[in-house]
Amino acid sequence: MTSKSDSWRAQVRRCIVSSDDLPLSSRTKRALAPVIEKYPMRLPPHLAQLIDWNDPRCPIKRQVLPSLNELHDAGCADPLDEERFSVAPGVIRRFDDRLLALVHHTCPILCRHCNRKRTWLAPFVPAGTQDIAKALSKSSHIKEVILSGGEPLLLSNKSLDSLLCAARSKPGVQVLRIHSRAPMSLPSRITPALVRMLKRHDPLWFVTHFNTHKEMSAQSRRALAILRSAGIPVLNQAVLLRGVNDSTRALAALGRALVSAGVKPYYLFQLDMATGTTHFQVPLRRGLEIVSRLQRNHSGLLVPRYMADLPGRGGKVELSPEIIVKWTDKGAILRGADGKDLLYEDKFKHK
Ligand SMILES: *Cc1c(COP(=O)(O)O)cnc(C)c1O
Repeated sequence: MTSKSDSWRAQVRRCIVSSDDLPLSSRTKRALAPVIEKYPMRLPPHLAQLIDWNDPRCPIKRQVLPSLNELHDAGCADPLDEERFSVAPGVIRRFDDRLLALVHHTCPILCRHCNRKRTWLAPFVPAGTQDIAKALSKSSHIKEVILSGGEPLLLSNKSLDSLLCAARSKPGVQVLRIHSRAPMSLPSRITPALVRMLKRHDPLWFVTHFNTHKEMSAQSRRALAILRSAGIPVLNQAVLLRGVNDSTRALAALGRALVSAGVKPYYLFQLDMATGTTHFQVPLRRGLEIVSRLQRNHSGLLVPRYMADLPGRGGKVELSPEIIVKWTDKGAILRGADGKDLLYEDKFKHK
């Protein structure tokens, strides 16, 4: 029996995993073979159609097509120390009030910049309902539980429902979150039946991952509209990637595409130095310039917080352009949007 809701599963089955199924020269295919042998390739068919194969700088292509650079870098396997902060299989606690559960081990899209690329080589055991319940029973102060992966939406509605129930099983947990790239990678997964189930777990926040406006296809817009029509707030996390979105213009276009789809840009991450991804690194100074120009010249709605995720309990810290130039006994010298410094006077003593 095939029903409409099965179509996302059909899409997953039809994911492209061989360079033979892409419009590449045989020379390119030969060159990529050793990379694919180490770090597999996977992309859903609709994404292959969004790629401009004639454009060597197509930002979607850069996120999904393997590159020889992946074999030559000095990143580290687990840049956020997640293994050390694992409290149950697939459950990570780096922050007192939030618990992260990795509920599926893989994704329909294998992003070349994935910061859990280590798990492509050694898959982890995903967290189940028991693991989440056990982790919650051992920890107090948890206010939010985040389901991530891998792609959590590769699970059935029924499995997701049980995991969300387990996450809510402990009094004190107020908010649930799903971190998923499905609105971009597998928009057909966002069905009315899925959001009806998610709605029963309100308050639930949905955090997705678009890196450029080119990813915002008509199907993605429809998927986001379905989520929003159920009253589910949707945020976006992007990663600052060299050759993909490392300009003020690219981030402004991304921000506008998101805000037009009702999605608030939440974080822009400085790249974690994970093995096989460091060729995407943008120098921190350049990142700060890009974000500073974004803040000065664009609607606040489309400006995300620029973040670095530090190992272990270093946590997530905001990287902010230097607005405060100097403290004086009258207040602070601030740098204005026009680049000129002004005294912001206040009556408190700072010196
Ligand atoms: C990133 C992360 C979170 C969520 O952090 P926010 O800053 O609240 O979005 C929670 N737990 C872990 C382990 C994380 O890495």
